Amino acid sequence: MTRQIITFHGGVHPPEHKAESSHYPIRTAALPARLILSLQQSIGSAAKPVVKVGDEVAKGQLIAAADGMISAALHAPTSGRIEAIALQPVAHPSGLSDNCIVLIPDGNDQWLERSLFDWRNAEPNAVRTYLRDMGVVGLGGAVFPSHLKLSSKTQLDTLIINGAECEPYITCDDRLMRERAAEIIAGILMVQFLLNAKQVLIGIEDNKPEAAAALRDAIKASRSQAVAAIEVVQVPTLYPSGGAKQLIKLLCNIEVPSGVRSTDLGVQCFNVATIHSIYCALAHAEPVIRRVVTITGNVERPGNYEALIGTPLAELLKAAGEKGSSGYIYGGPMMGFELPSLAVGLSKAGNCVIAKTPADFPEQPREMPCIRCSKCAEACPAELQPMDLFWFAKSKNFGKAQERNLFDCIECGACAYVCPSNIRLVDYYRFAKSEIWAAEKTKHAADLARERFEFREFRAKREKQEKAERLAAKATQKLAQAVASDDPEDAIRAAKIKAAMAKAAGTSEVPASDSTVTPEVDQAAQLAAEKKAKIAAAMARAAAKKAEAEAAVPMLRNEEPFMAPSQTLPASSMDKTDRTKEILDKRREERARIAAMSSEERSEWEAAKQAEIAEAKAAAALRKAEIVVPPEGPAPSLDEEKAAKIRAAMVKRDEEKARLAAMSPEEKAALAAERQARIDAAMAAKAAKAAKDE
Ligand code: SF4
Ligand code: SF4
Repeated sequence: MTRQIITFHGGVHPPEHKAESSHYPIRTAALPARLILSLQQSIGSAAKPVVKVGDEVAKGQLIAAADGMISAALHAPTSGRIEAIALQPVAHPSGLSDNCIVLIPDGNDQWLERSLFDWRNAEPNAVRTYLRDMGVVGLGGAVFPSHLKLSSKTQLDTLIINGAECEPYITCDDRLMRERAAEIIAGILMVQFLLNAKQVLIGIEDNKPEAAAALRDAIKASRSQAVAAIEVVQVPTLYPSGGAKQLIKLLCNIEVPSGVRSTDLGVQCFNVATIHSIYCALAHAEPVIRRVVTITGNVERPGNYEALIGTPLAELLKAAGEKGSSGYIYGGPMMGFELPSLAVGLSKAGNCVIAKTPADFPEQPREMPCIRCSKCAEACPAELQPMDLFWFAKSKNFGKAQERNLFDCIECGACAYVCPSNIRLVDYYRFAKSEIWAAEKTKHAADLARERFEFREFRAKREKQEKAERLAAKATQKLAQAVASDDPEDAIRAAKIKAAMAKAAGTSEVPASDSTVTPEVDQAAQLAAEKKAKIAAAMARAAAKKAEAEAAVPMLRNEEPFMAPSQTLPASSMDKTDRTKEILDKRREERARIAAMSSEERSEWEAAKQAEIAEAKAAAALRKAEIVVPPEGPAPSLDEEKAAKIRAAMVKRDEEKARLAAMSPEEKAALAAERQARIDAAMAAKAAKAAKDE
């Protein structure tokens, strides 16, 4: 049954220019003097070098390991010595240098000892990891790591093998299919097995009948039962039929909507050259160290060359007989880019090098304004509005460009090919995409920084909380120990801890739920407080008594008021200084004697002193009575009057002293405080007056 082919929207028919190179068998490129191997051989992360300068390596030896899952390993294409790991010019439209490993071949081409991988019995994940480590990437130009395409969550309905090779000038896949059809069919069976695909469709443009015939012959020759599910389908020659979505539409009549993966619709797509490299890896344990590349254009021997990855393009052009050129295109004329230099190494993505001729590649006419003719929209196979994308990209309105599905653009160049204004539309789309990726990268970095900051804040908060919990646990433990203790000091400590805990909890009271604060703790704290108050009162009393005793000593030694007239010493009997000295000595001795007294002696002394005071009071009362009721008789003389005043003053003083002696310590303290307050007030008034005067 003939399969019905339903073509996709748009597409163009540029001159093919395939015959120049497709008629010649694949030639093997000579071993170059040096290989320049870029570490960036896939669309993912660059590989990480696992060798150092000066290392001797064997052919097929790993020299740079895959960095993560979206990455691919790099291997030594031949045996030799690592000369450098440094920045070198690479095949990239930017013309910038990138990290490369420079290998100097030793000419022996000595293989590393290889062992086959039992892929049939291995876990799917193990197969994927193996292919990643063998450096298998899409060789159709996209260099997407192939192992990622071997994981399908759903049962795969159709495996599509892309042999369309729709871009002008390029014939490497054509020659590969013609010359290595059996290996390709073997590779297809492997992938079919790994993906458990129900059917396999090999899509080939109808301008490659030899390739289609070779594959059909290989299918017939295969002894595998599974080849029954493989079908070679020739599709119309229409650029870009080799686009994955376009080929799926052609072969399966399935349109893959924007944002949907083809595997979600049960379809997966592999390029024929990629299938061949998977075959080499699984069947011969050969990593991707070589590829077929078309060298065409202004060269004497255009054709396809099997060259080692890293071979300088200048050497390939030299082998093809370069005749001098106005420039070189890496890839095809539609999707490729101008090479900044020929001193770059062949990459895994490199399917074609075109030496330009002025006849085939005339000077690009000057860009004219867009006339909104919509020819670009008619040609666009992705059914986009290229003129709108151009406008948004040019005005740097990238958000709008994204809204109009900029990333569905496969950069096929069909729009630019038909544009009457000669606008290099794809350049604008590439610019817009790179700007959006850069912004995404910056945003990602900012998001990471924000996440790091938030985590740091969270960690600090958590550590603070943990510390608080630790301290609370410690306090609870101490509180429990204090509660269990009989020592009143511990009861005070418990009360303090309780208060501190309440303060830490942000309340003036201890939470009711605090199990450590028991009635026993409260009682103990109360007792302790009472005891403390009693001690303070006792100390105050003792201090008062001491002060009283000190005050009493001079009173007792002041012979003039208290001495009996019989005991009064004549003024002339003792020198005044000696008397003062004697009095002071006696006072000192008395103080020392009182201080040395035991509590009992002191009590006795106090009792005696009280008795003396009582006796003195009685005497004073008697003298007062004598003054208040003057004796009858003549009026006193002036001396007698003066003596009476003195006696009255002495009585008053004695009364004051008696009153003081009768006071309790608390009353004395209150009196002292009152006096002190008066003194302070007086001093403050004095200071204020002095300040005012100044
Ligand atoms: S083909 Fe060119 S001129 Fe015409 S609408 Fe598109 S961008 Fe504008
Ligand atoms: S380059 Fe993009 S916009 Fe232009 S035709 Fe191709 S897919 Fe459409």
